[in-house]
Amino acid sequence: MIETCDNLGLLPIQAAISNMLKQVIPVMESEQVELEEALGRVLAEDVVSSINVPPNDNSAMDGYAMRCEDLADTNQLQLAGTALAGAPFKQNVLSGQCIRIMTGAVIPQGADSVVMQENTEAKDDSVIFKQIPRWGNNVRKAGEDIQQGQVVVTKGTKLTPAYLALIASVGMAEISVIRHIKVGLIVTGDELTPPGQPLSDGAIYESNRYALSALLNTLPIVLFDFGIVKDDKTDLKTVFEQAGSHCDLVLSCGGVSVGDADYVKAILDELGTINFWKVAIKPGKPFAFGQLGNAWFCGLPGNPVSSYVTFEQLVTPVLQKLSGQTYLPSPHFIAKAACIIKKRPGRADYQRAIFYRDEHGELWVKPNGKQGSGIMSSIANANCYMVLEQDAGDIQQGETVNIQPF
Ligand code: AMP
Ligand code: MG
Repeated sequence: MIETCDNLGLLPIQAAISNMLKQVIPVMESEQVELEEALGRVLAEDVVSSINVPPNDNSAMDGYAMRCEDLADTNQLQLAGTALAGAPFKQNVLSGQCIRIMTGAVIPQGADSVVMQENTEAKDDSVIFKQIPRWGNNVRKAGEDIQQGQVVVTKGTKLTPAYLALIASVGMAEISVIRHIKVGLIVTGDELTPPGQPLSDGAIYESNRYALSALLNTLPIVLFDFGIVKDDKTDLKTVFEQAGSHCDLVLSCGGVSVGDADYVKAILDELGTINFWKVAIKPGKPFAFGQLGNAWFCGLPGNPVSSYVTFEQLVTPVLQKLSGQTYLPSPHFIAKAACIIKKRPGRADYQRAIFYRDEHGELWVKPNGKQGSGIMSSIANANCYMVLEQDAGDIQQGETVNIQPF
């Protein structure tokens, strides 16, 4: 029998995301920050320009500015002065005159067009024009980039380097952004040993925290790292209580399945309102979401690849919403499968893969080695997810699939 999401009680990934986004209430508190500090932060208010950018008509070229109509019946004009960027020519350009002008310099009264230097010849105190301009040539108009009163960047935008330049160009040195989101991170398991210490029998090195905290630190958050917590009911309860009262979002990793030492479910049921889901996603089926004290809570599976993939696919939208951003699904592209890919319908498969362009410019994608949920090199050496839809079966060579570049 073909396994489907219905007969296994699996929750489709989009349903899980919508469900979480419907519940999460964005943090509204904001703070003023200097523009230099604002990279990656989320804008709390629209940025409205109080000026035109550029503020004046100015020259797009090094050359000569004049009245275009003057060149209708002569090709020689008298040189009356110079305008530099930041040092305007303060008089009127009269009929029969031109001025030397540099890129970015204000077009003086009277002038309306610029001829680039290469198409002119200076002769004593006059200039010969070897090209007759059209009216307005090489003049950048005031406000052609941004108009006074225009919304330049909208509230909810995550600020990239280009947005910082755009905001600076309208003269703002400080802006209002959503405060940092407080995220608590807890990893659980008796076997987990911090790197740098000797490994005892049956132990493994704890590694998920390094990926998760690095992923988190690219976001506008402050991280509260609660370290490794033993599979001990009392310890776990204390840490979960602490995290739930200090954070906006608590992430735990491990112990959300149904193993003997998986106390997380019992404790969370006691401390909060948590739903334990089997999300129709591979890797990473067990996932928990709900409220813990003052915080939202996401419980990730412990397997390294599962925790990474569920963080990227399920926790990222929650963090976006929480930090006031509009939910932006990751861009997908289409590529052709370079080989047969075995798949059973029932779960969306996020295979770690490598995409490349062939000599005809066509995009292909192939799985990056073994796809087990413990094989971290499958992510580390990959450059995309190959996303196989929940209901899809085997994919034939040459069939198109979606990819999500890293
Ligand atoms: P669990 O979800 O706790 O049942 O863990 C599933 C598997 O992931 C087990 O093999 C764990 O040893 C492993 N695991 C859990 N947490 C971590 C971690 N933080 N770092 C590395 N491996 C982990
Ligand atoms: Mg465990």
